[in-house]
Amino acid sequence: MTAPQQIQPPTACILSIGDELVLGTTLDTNGRVLSIALREAGLDVIEHRTVRDDRVAIVDALQSLASIASVIISTGGLGPTDDDLTRDALNEIIDHNALQIEDALARADLDTWFAGRGRTMAAINLRQAMRPRSANIIRNREGTAPGLVATIGTCRVYCLPGPPREMIPMLESDVLPAVRPAGALMIAKRTLGSFGIGESALAELLGERMTRGREPAVGTTASGSVVSLQVVARGADASARADAEMTACMAAVAPYGFAAVDASLASSLLMECRARGRTLAVAESCTGGLIGSMLTAVPGSSDVFHGGWITYSNAMKEAHLGVSPQLIAQHGAVSQETVMAMAEGACARSGASLAISVSGVAGPGGGTAEKPVGTVWIGLHDTQLGTRARRFVFPGERDIVRDRAAKTALQLARWMLRGEDASMIWERAGERADAHTGARADVQHSKRTS
Ligand code: ATP
Repeated sequence: MTAPQQIQPPTACILSIGDELVLGTTLDTNGRVLSIALREAGLDVIEHRTVRDDRVAIVDALQSLASIASVIISTGGLGPTDDDLTRDALNEIIDHNALQIEDALARADLDTWFAGRGRTMAAINLRQAMRPRSANIIRNREGTAPGLVATIGTCRVYCLPGPPREMIPMLESDVLPAVRPAGALMIAKRTLGSFGIGESALAELLGERMTRGREPAVGTTASGSVVSLQVVARGADASARADAEMTACMAAVAPYGFAAVDASLASSLLMECRARGRTLAVAESCTGGLIGSMLTAVPGSSDVFHGGWITYSNAMKEAHLGVSPQLIAQHGAVSQETVMAMAEGACARSGASLAISVSGVAGPGGGTAEKPVGTVWIGLHDTQLGTRARRFVFPGERDIVRDRAAKTALQLARWMLRGEDASMIWERAGERADAHTGARADVQHSKRTS
C-alpha cells in the first residue's frame, strides 16, 4: 500500500514598501495582519521583506521573492506621488517599461470617488488609474489607490495600498478567496486571557496539552502581565475540537483564566457583575483612575459601573469616602484598614453594591522598609459578601506597578463574586497578607495572615 501523498501548502512572501517602515517611524502592522490571514487561509508564509521607496529595491525584491514563492503580497507605494513606485517597478518586470494604460474601471472609480465628496480631482491622481498592460486592477472601495494583480514567472503578485483600512478590505474580498488553496485545512482558533499567574506556571497547569506537535495545539503569549492561551485545531471538526480543548484548558487554569473570548479583565468583571445583579464603584489612590478607565473602555459598561473617586490625598479619602483621620493616622494611607474603609465608603456613597479600592506606593520614591516601593493594598466591599483587603508587592517601574495593581483589583473582584481564590504570581509562599470581615461593615472579625 502506498502512503498518502503529503500535499504541500502554497508558499507566500510579504513585501512591505515604504521609507517610513524601513526607518521605523511606522510600524509594519500590515505584515502581521497579512501573515496571520495567509496562514489561516492555508498558505505557508516563508518570508517578510521591507524595502524603501526605491524602484530598484522594489524590482529586486519582487524578482527574488517571485523565485521562491507562489504568492507575493506587497503593500504600499501605490499612491499618486513620485515616491509611489510599486506600479512602475511591476511594469518594469512584467512589461519591460512599456507605456502603461489607463484602466477604464479604475478611472470611473476615481471620478466617482471625487464626485461623491464634492472634490475636484488633481491631475496627479490620474496616475492611480494607470496600470501595466499585463496587470489587472483590484478595486479599492475605501480609497483612491486601486491594487494590482499580475504574474511574475509562476508567482501570483498582489500589490495592495499601504493604509490598513484600504488594504484589509481588499485582502478579504479579493485576495484571500483567490489564493486560498482548494480543500484547504479548516482551522479554528480560540483564545483565553489569564491574569495573576506566570507563563511557566501556566504551562505547568496545562501539562501535556502544551506538547509541541500535539493536535489541537496549545500555546501561550504574555503581554501587559496578561498571559494569553491560544488553542488552534486543524482539519475536520476543527471548531468542535477547539471548543472542547478550550473548555479543558479553562478548567486546568482556573481561576486565573478570565474570558474564553477576546475580552479584557474589565469586561469579564462587568459580565460577572451583570450575571449577579451587582453594580460597581471604585475608590482609587495610586492607580489614579486606571481602573475606572479600564471599566469605561468597555462599551455598555454604564449599566454596571456607577463611577468613583480618585482620592490621592488623605484629606480626599476623609472628605469624600468618610475614612476616619484617626484610622489613617494609626495605620497609614497604604494599609489594610484604609482600603477597607475606602471600599466601604465608596459603596455607601455611590449606592453601588460592590466597590474596589486601591492604595499603594507606586514609586520610584516613597518606599520604606515596612512598605517598599510596589506595596499596594487592594480593598473590596460587597454589600452581601463583606469587606476584604489584600496586600501585594508588585515589582517593576511605576507604570507597571500601577497597571498590575489595577488589573489585580479587577481579577480579585471577579474572584470574590465567583467565590474563587488563588495566590498570585507576585505573592511568595508565606507572604500573602489579606483580611476580611463579614457582610456588615461593623462586624470586625478581621483576620490577617502573613
Ligand atoms: P496612499 O494612496 O495613501 O499614498 P500607498 O499605497 O501609496 O497609499 P503608502 O503611501 O506607502 O501607501 O503608505 C500610506 C500610509 O499607509 C503610510 O503613511 C502608513 O500610515 C500606512 N502604511 C503603509 N504601509 C504600512 C504597513 N506595512 N503597515 C502599517 N501601515 C502602513
